[in-house]
Amino acid sequence: MLIQYILDIEPNTLFVVNAISLGAFAIAFFCIWLKQRDKAYWLYWTAANFVLSSVFTIFVVIDRSQIMQMAFVNALLVLGVALRWQALRSFFYRKNYVEFNLIVLLLVIAPYFLSSYVKHSVIFGAVNVILFVEIALIIRELLKPNKEVLPSRWGLMVAYGIVGLAFLLRVVQAWLISPDTMTPLPLDHLLTVQLLIVSIHIVASGAFAISIAYERGISELRQMVLRDPLTELYNRRAYELTLAEHKPDDGSFALILLDIDHFKRINDAFGHAAGDIALKRCANILMQVFRKTDFIARIGGEEFVAILPETTMKEAYEFAEAARKAVENDAFEYNGNIVRLTISAGVCLATAGGSSFSDITQNADLSLYSAKNNGRNRVEIFAV
Ligand code: GH3
Ligand code: MG
Ligand code: MG
Repeated sequence: MLIQYILDIEPNTLFVVNAISLGAFAIAFFCIWLKQRDKAYWLYWTAANFVLSSVFTIFVVIDRSQIMQMAFVNALLVLGVALRWQALRSFFYRKNYVEFNLIVLLLVIAPYFLSSYVKHSVIFGAVNVILFVEIALIIRELLKPNKEVLPSRWGLMVAYGIVGLAFLLRVVQAWLISPDTMTPLPLDHLLTVQLLIVSIHIVASGAFAISIAYERGISELRQMVLRDPLTELYNRRAYELTLAEHKPDDGSFALILLDIDHFKRINDAFGHAAGDIALKRCANILMQVFRKTDFIARIGGEEFVAILPETTMKEAYEFAEAARKAVENDAFEYNGNIVRLTISAGVCLATAGGSSFSDITQNADLSLYSAKNNGRNRVEIFAV
């Protein structure tokens, strides 16, 4: 009953509904772009939805048995999907080739000029193959590895996946099922199903396009709040949050506090800019010495911290020593002067069920203090 009711929906009704939703999203994307003019993907998304909205409007008004009119509207359809692909490439900071749009248009229009020589079903199938390939390209952009955590990419993938399948069904229909009876646009139940899938796709892809951009905005804000802009290491806030995440019963971890020796002298002798370079070099050395699983932050002017999960005191000491040596062996030239640094470090261990967090930081601090008192450029451990 329900299925029959759905299959009986007039294709023109669905064409109009789709044109309206696409138009609404085009306006929404354009409004977002007005506020974020540096983000070209909103313009691509606006253009794509505007073109696709026109496609569905034109489908209603043209004579769908006229091959050349169908050629025109199918060319626009392929262009609209191509623009969506470019919107995603732009979103992921990948290069776009505008010439691609022209090639795509030619590819679609060409078979129609051959329409007196080839069957309609072949042309119809070819257009759907092109659309399917475009959708596959879009899904490929979403699958490419990307460091950002953007869960909405999966929503977009499903939204494009279902529409890709709908195009594939048309290809199967054109080439396998009824190659001889095809008109330029068969008005059958499959068209209704396809238009319904497209309706779902339009809403889902529009909503996920907005939410993926929102997710990026949030993660960029997080980066800003948790990172030190000079060295790009985590900052004190991130350190406190990370430390709070470790429960005393979670097992042992080592904490290393590192502080540049006589840093004030470097600033005084070579200037603040040289001091900044020294800080960045130090940060880079720490990133190389420690492991991916270790957490490193700059928690003060020239003070760094490393949290080493599941690490023994001996291993932690060795890491601290490696960092100390690497900094000692590093040198850079600034305004004709050779600048060298050394660091001191204090290491302490947090054992499961052991000391509280304030104790842990305090213990590392005490060891660092001893390292400074014992002549600097050395590592001291907190012996229990
Ligand atoms: P110690 O060996 O005892 O650690 O001596 P120190 O000179 O390294 O320590 P102190 O705490 O006296 O001086 C730290 C200096 O770090 C003072 C401050 O001018 C400098 N500093 C803090 N933040 C920055 C920064 O972002 N850039 C630069 N260039 N200098 C900074
Ligand atoms: Mg210092
Ligand atoms: Mg200091």
